[in-house]
Amino acid sequence: MAANVFFWNLSSSRRVPFDRRLRRLLKESGYASFLRPGDLVALKVHFGEKGSSGYIGPRLLKPVVDFFRKTGVKPFLTDTNTLYVGQRGETVSHALQAAEHGFDPLLLKAPVVIADGLKSNHEVSVIGPGRHFEHCYLAGDILDADSLINISHVTGHELTGYAGALKNLGMGCATRKGKMHQHCGLGPGLDQARCLGCGDCIEVCGGGALWLDVEGKINIDRESCTGCAACLLACRQAALQVDFKVEIPVFLERMVEYAGAVLSAFTRPVLHLNYLLHITPGCDCSGGNNGPVCPDLGVLASLDPLALDQASHDLVNQAPGQTSVLPAGWQPGEDKFAALHPSIEAQYCFEYAWKLGLGSREYRLVLV
Ligand code: SF4
Ligand code: SF4
Repeated sequence: MAANVFFWNLSSSRRVPFDRRLRRLLKESGYASFLRPGDLVALKVHFGEKGSSGYIGPRLLKPVVDFFRKTGVKPFLTDTNTLYVGQRGETVSHALQAAEHGFDPLLLKAPVVIADGLKSNHEVSVIGPGRHFEHCYLAGDILDADSLINISHVTGHELTGYAGALKNLGMGCATRKGKMHQHCGLGPGLDQARCLGCGDCIEVCGGGALWLDVEGKINIDRESCTGCAACLLACRQAALQVDFKVEIPVFLERMVEYAGAVLSAFTRPVLHLNYLLHITPGCDCSGGNNGPVCPDLGVLASLDPLALDQASHDLVNQAPGQTSVLPAGWQPGEDKFAALHPSIEAQYCFEYAWKLGLGSREYRLVLV
């Protein structure tokens, strides 16, 4: 059955102020009826990696906070620490990065809560809904919330081809351990040439899986590794790294299963918002700045994350392309995400989400 996807089409409403149109979109979604005064409502966002300008900034999120605060709930802005060691790999740097990007709790009237704890050990285990995982490891403070609003910036992505609501749920709500399990199964990749033999990783390895050989270089016993990812953060030489070698379809299935685990952890529906603004070839985790692949399109809302992603993917592909950003040879009408990331079939993720029962690939666009 087709799911409703509410669409604020930017091109149809250039004269209407952004906040007013966004309020209308949220009202039409009907989500306020699921909330009760005093609820703690997690707004899962992305605060942007250092140097990135593509993320959805505070000015574009404030109307959402304001709308829901008026219903009597207490929204907070949240994300989880990254698996790679960048500016958002632990909570102190991550929270400071959010502040540098203007996420000011006093202005927004919503605090920033990094949901998986200082070093991403604040996790809740949820039964996996698919064939890859018995348990999925999710950020404790997202699961503690009374309701979840999943706010995604639609972009291309180096590993998923397309990134939107399902990725923001599956990867974005996982702890480092959960992210590690999706990306590389168990255990980090080793680059022994970089290892200085300091032993810092061995100290944090609860599984006792790491040791130094006679040359003072790091080694791993994969049988003992629990995939907790603590060593990645401990190593300042990048001698322990995320091993991205897992097959893409397997990775996409794992990510979708995590998305399903997040949805299953909430008794109430989750609201999903996709911002189709400044749609860049890569995601907001990259510290660089890219031009957009097509014009800004607007904002979409749905209770169905799959229908929302399918609609977002289709709208981007129906829009005119920015040939200076898309690869040479791209022709109007061709799939932009496939052209940008030719080795990834992004829609495989949609197919698998449908098989898992996470939503519908059919949608009805409702213009607001
Ligand atoms: S923390 Fe890094 S440099 Fe130190 S022993 Fe472990 S792998 Fe080697
Ligand atoms: S992932 Fe965890 S258990 Fe595995 S080697 Fe690293 S610290 Fe040890």
